[in-house]
Amino acid sequence: MATKDYYQVLNVARDADEREIKKAYRRLAMKYHPDRNPDDPEADQKFKEATQAYEVLSDEKKRAAYDQYGHDAFENGGFGQGGGGFSGGGGGASFNDIFGDMFGDIFGGGGRSHPNAPQRGSDLRYKLDLDLEEAVKGTTVTIKVPTLVACEACHGQGTADGKKPETCPTCHGQGQVRMQQGFFAIQQTCPRCHGRGTLITDPCRQCHGQGQVEEQKTLSVKIPAGVDTGDRIRLSGEGAAGANGGPAGDLYVQVQVREHPIFQRDGANLYCEVPISFVDAALGGELEVPTLEGRVKLKIPAETQTGKLFRLRNKGVKPIRGGMAGDLLCRVVVETPVNLNAEQKELLQRLHESMEATQKHSPRSHSWFDGVKKFFEDMKL
Ligand SMILES: [Zn+2]
Ligand SMILES: [Zn+2]
Repeated sequence: MATKDYYQVLNVARDADEREIKKAYRRLAMKYHPDRNPDDPEADQKFKEATQAYEVLSDEKKRAAYDQYGHDAFENGGFGQGGGGFSGGGGGASFNDIFGDMFGDIFGGGGRSHPNAPQRGSDLRYKLDLDLEEAVKGTTVTIKVPTLVACEACHGQGTADGKKPETCPTCHGQGQVRMQQGFFAIQQTCPRCHGRGTLITDPCRQCHGQGQVEEQKTLSVKIPAGVDTGDRIRLSGEGAAGANGGPAGDLYVQVQVREHPIFQRDGANLYCEVPISFVDAALGGELEVPTLEGRVKLKIPAETQTGKLFRLRNKGVKPIRGGMAGDLLCRVVVETPVNLNAEQKELLQRLHESMEATQKHSPRSHSWFDGVKKFFEDMKL
């Protein structure tokens, strides 16, 4: 039927990208759409040509075939491949993209499949807060999720008597009606049944004709050891119920680990801060540090500076995907003594004077003051 070059029809270059093609088609379709040009065969023809060209050029495979073989690639003329009118299925989504709400109904609601076709239920997401200990060791939790289930009263039919709803007399169950515009047919969603193809005259009182009711479902979910924030556990078939006999969706349990008062987690490693007295830091000693399995002893060498990290191997988290447990990293923080009495202050003062006399007890401040001195000397130059 069509012999015009598709690129010429859309007035785009042969290397035009998807966006340019869409834009060009949108412009032409708006201009020549039969709704805007009633009883204008010329506009009809132009609209048809543009649609045909767009159907081919917007489809990567069809476009490649067209570039190689020209119109011979589409013996049946391309247009009407969907069985007349617009191909409401595959190509429909892009039509809807182009026209948005404006022409959505004319194209049968874009890419939506037939309302009576089996539809998979939607996936649901459940946010689960866990303590760090639960996440590390694994646990079993009981969760309640709202879910749509088939209404028992009407066996999911939505009718008061539980029998199949009657067929819509307007569209004879098709959900779509065809409208003739010149020699060009448009499919439209049936205005009487809104595309369902069926009518419920006496709706079920339990579900108000929906065929589904919301229920709280209690699920026991096993949380594997080692989960972390962002991990998802998929429960197949525990999502929303499907429609028209379609399968249920999945439920995704999304883990969020609460902040811990002592430990911060970074993957398989745990971090914590351990306060120590400046006497322990100076003389060395043995500390008790917390781990997720209880307290362990940690030897601190003499002359330990504040901020030093000590690594306790394999005291971290065992990764969910197997392998060695991570480490626990303890950062010691030297504490300044508070609430000193007169005697203690006196002792500190004497210690201070003793250290001043020998001047080799503060490795950091010595190098720091040297740096400052050099900085000011350099500035003078
Ligand atoms: Zn109908
Ligand atoms: Zn019902």
